Amino acid sequence: MTSRDNAVGAKAYFPGPKSENEAWVRAEFQAILDDWFDWRKSDRTGDPAAISRDDRLSADFLAERERLSQELDTLKTLMRRETATYSPRYAGHMVSELTLPALFGQLTALLHNPNNTSKEVSRVGTVIEAEAIGMLAEMIGYDPATARGHFTSGGTVANFEGVWRARYRLDHWLSLALWIAESSGEPLNVFEAAHMGWTRYAALVKQHAPDPGALRNCSAVAGNPADVFRRLSKAAGHDYLGPVVLVPASKHFSWRKAANVFGLGEEAFWEIGLDDEGRFDIADLERRVTEAEAAARPVLAVVSVAGTTETGEIDPVDRIADRLDQWRAERGWRIWHHVDAAYGGFLCTIPDGPHETVLQPATIAALKAVSRAHSVTIDPHKLGFVPYACGAFLARDADHYTVSVFDAPYLERPQISDDPWTSTLEGSRSAAGATAVWLTGRTIGFAPDRFGALLAGMIRSGDVFRNEVLGGLDGVHVLEPVDANIVCFSLGAPGEALSAANRRTRALYDALCEAGDFVVTTTTLGSVNHRSQIARHIARFDGEADEARLVLIRCVFMNPYWASEAIRDAMVPQFAATIRQALSTLD
Ligand SMILES: *Cc1c(COP(=O)(O)O)cnc(C)c1O
Repeated sequence: MTSRDNAVGAKAYFPGPKSENEAWVRAEFQAILDDWFDWRKSDRTGDPAAISRDDRLSADFLAERERLSQELDTLKTLMRRETATYSPRYAGHMVSELTLPALFGQLTALLHNPNNTSKEVSRVGTVIEAEAIGMLAEMIGYDPATARGHFTSGGTVANFEGVWRARYRLDHWLSLALWIAESSGEPLNVFEAAHMGWTRYAALVKQHAPDPGALRNCSAVAGNPADVFRRLSKAAGHDYLGPVVLVPASKHFSWRKAANVFGLGEEAFWEIGLDDEGRFDIADLERRVTEAEAAARPVLAVVSVAGTTETGEIDPVDRIADRLDQWRAERGWRIWHHVDAAYGGFLCTIPDGPHETVLQPATIAALKAVSRAHSVTIDPHKLGFVPYACGAFLARDADHYTVSVFDAPYLERPQISDDPWTSTLEGSRSAAGATAVWLTGRTIGFAPDRFGALLAGMIRSGDVFRNEVLGGLDGVHVLEPVDANIVCFSLGAPGEALSAANRRTRALYDALCEAGDFVVTTTTLGSVNHRSQIARHIARFDGEADEARLVLIRCVFMNPYWASEAIRDAMVPQFAATIRQALSTLD
């Protein structure tokens, strides 16, 4: 298939901004309904019906039908005022058009309503979920035969799944070490023990044969944390202040929620600084781990971000994995690495394919290293074009997946039930996200010349916006680098104070909202860790850093129709005119 043919073929995967695919999409919707009704009718054909023809003709029945019909009309009318995120004029949040495979997949499961909490209420849904997880695993470079995972309500919960497991693993190791220290009276090195690894754990269990009940009593997760911390302090001969999680300053706010939910305290989430391109700074990781070791605070996990929520930056996942490998080899430390690829996970379809050049070499290297992490978050409801609510949590293998159960320690894993609820934070879960991803995988497919081509097209749309819309405007500065399909820009006149530039950028945003022709968003980089990135940005207009935050207008280019020439030809000049008009109202 040539890329030209592919571009036309891809038009079969979306409804069309003007409902161009209406006729046959209607037929498919109808076919889904036909099959659903038939499924019910064909089961136990000898059983009686519950609703007779007379019932359906009775006045009471007809009145209720009428009420339902009217209120449904009310709902439909309300929804017509909903944000038109499918529109090529929408470049706001991380949402756009849905694909037809995702919509059909979602709708089909919705009607059958399986609950993936258990195989008893999801005979088919759980099987499809496992296959869809296999597809996502393969996409990011995990071995689909050994990787494990499940769908979540979104990236927030998928990130929690990572913390949950990393915390349990560390707790297993530390509980055993505490038990040994207390029974032998030998001093405890908390930092070493907390990163000991399963091989050493297994050897120690064999050597000391601890009673499982006694181990539970040494666990800060299964036992009493205050008591365990007190005893860890005593065994170590110094105060034990608990583990830390290392997360870059560009993190999503779900990480702060994780601190609250897991009771670690926000203080335990240590921010990793950013380099002047806004990416995870390896030198700061070095400093933070050294600091953690000196404070005898175990590193529960290192988090990197593949596609930051605000600006789409891809952290150097490869170099972070290298550094962790080095600590493992030189010091024996096993540190959990979680990649928050909620936004950027699907970009893993681009490397090693025909469209690879839309990405910078560093981004390609980072995306290819996502598979080196212990666990990964992916949001199909972002760049997977799947309806809400659909996130996914993936672990490299069963060891890293099933670790979140205290009573089934590592060595006795075969005893763990394989019913999904035993290893998911959420209880009842819809199968609809899984079926949507499954049908997407079976049709568009997550190969570089399929899904990769689609996403590469969106990165190119961002470039078109940047070059053809912003390129013609004076005093507009794009935040560099642009790692993905999010283009952020600010205003800035030569020598202007940042506070004044920020005010004008904010006013431009307000004017664009007022005009209402195109939807964009705004973001502010304001952490102390953004300082060097801000300095680098304002140096472009010789700006004066009189305040420590940078206001940006943020445009997410994930509308599939921008790949169409007709749409581009119409949108580019109109977008430029809208911005020019908004700029003219500023002073
Ligand atoms: C969106 C996002 C999340 C949270 O995902 P939800 O699906 O909104 O819960 C987490 N991390 C990153 C990097 C994100 O972009």
